[in-house]
Amino acid sequence: MSRLMIIGCGGVASVAIHKCCQNSDVFTDICIASRTKEKCDAIKAELEGKTSTKISTARIDAMDVPALTALIQDYKPDAVLNVALPYQDLAIMDACLAAGVDYIDTANYECEDTDDPEWRAVYEKRCKNLGFTAYFDYSWQWAYQKRFREAGLTALLGSGFDPGVTSVFSAYALKHYFDEIHTIDILDCNGGDHGYPFATNFNPEINLREVSAPGSYWENGKWVEIPAMSIRREYNFDQVGKKDMYLLHHEEIESLAKNIPGIQRIRFFMTFGQSYLTHMKCLENVGLLGTTPIEFEGQQIVPIQFLRALLPDPASLGPRTVGKTNIGCIFTGLKDGKEKKIYIYNVCDHQECYKEVGSQAISYTTGVPAMIGSMMVVNGLWKKPGVFNVEEFDPDPYMEALNKWGLPWVVDENPALVD
Ligand code: NDP
Repeated sequence: MSRLMIIGCGGVASVAIHKCCQNSDVFTDICIASRTKEKCDAIKAELEGKTSTKISTARIDAMDVPALTALIQDYKPDAVLNVALPYQDLAIMDACLAAGVDYIDTANYECEDTDDPEWRAVYEKRCKNLGFTAYFDYSWQWAYQKRFREAGLTALLGSGFDPGVTSVFSAYALKHYFDEIHTIDILDCNGGDHGYPFATNFNPEINLREVSAPGSYWENGKWVEIPAMSIRREYNFDQVGKKDMYLLHHEEIESLAKNIPGIQRIRFFMTFGQSYLTHMKCLENVGLLGTTPIEFEGQQIVPIQFLRALLPDPASLGPRTVGKTNIGCIFTGLKDGKEKKIYIYNVCDHQECYKEVGSQAISYTTGVPAMIGSMMVVNGLWKKPGVFNVEEFDPDPYMEALNKWGLPWVVDENPALVD
């Protein structure tokens, strides 16, 4: 019996909403609050009559902290699930603190205006001190630790697939398979085909900012940064086949480096086809990935936001995407003094997801864990005062919920390793 406010109504939110409505015993009431209320109303109309969850909707600009605080105080949810954009993380955390409710998200904070001098000063210091240059990092949200702890509230960070499920896989591997984990390779393979020459599977602006940035990995206590897409490996993925994958910087590396004791190396690889990479390089070369506003016919436009307007909406890819995703982690380490390796992964079929909730597998693999993370918090299993990443809690109930709610996983005890 709980009330959840869901902020944002895009591809990931749509799946999280469908899943909350399948899980009406836990989520008796939800409020979908987003910038474009019509999208919230459309999902409400689609689901009403098919679920016993009571759905209400609201228009909100989540950057407006007083307005969001008032909305939360009025609806009185048990928790707020942020599936808007990483730009809104801090504003939504502020509103949760002001209104006294728990907070859950799927992606760490990123500043929309990377030319903001105040943000840039902190960013440049962090680049120098830590050695990675991605625009997003956990320091901003970890800085809320004291405020959440003192308020007796929980903030659960990064409950998507990666970060999220991959981090829970890490906690599970440590709990059940290893005395010490030495290396983690996170492999994110999308073997799906949407038939467009170029499209991204989640928010294009966030996606392109992420994949066009320098790659980095954690080794022997420090970050190693490399030029974008300069480390390539081939891997043979179960149910997908052989794919090229590239080393990227990814946010869960930062929290796993802190939370997995004795870890020596963490890398993240994502598969890309040659056509995607050629399109991205071309867009970058002509300046369309720029995040700094330019003057165009008397108007200020941000190139990457203009590009976003031209690209297909990820939420519309569902009907046309075929194939499977395979996302998981390969762990090596020691158990009872002997070397051990395991691979925990999930395979998800784009068309199966579409049949079930009307979305492709990337939104599905993020929206399901967003619902599960919210369930862990509202039912009290993962509730303690402070700001936490998902690997800091007992992984078992979350792993069980993955099997139950559509993301079954397997453990391969003799995987091929990535060199
Ligand atoms: P979309 O762009 O499809 O949806 C974002 C939604 O947020 C839209 O409905 C948008 O409103 C709304 N929104 C944007 N700004 C505001 C604002 N100021 N106030 C209120 N609502 C706002 O994104 P996705 O669904 O693809 O991604 C959602 C989140 O999930 C992102 O943070 C992304 O980084 C994360 N993600 C995490 C993954 C993981 O595995 N951990 C994987 C994939 C995504 P409008 O409809 O008006 O545009």
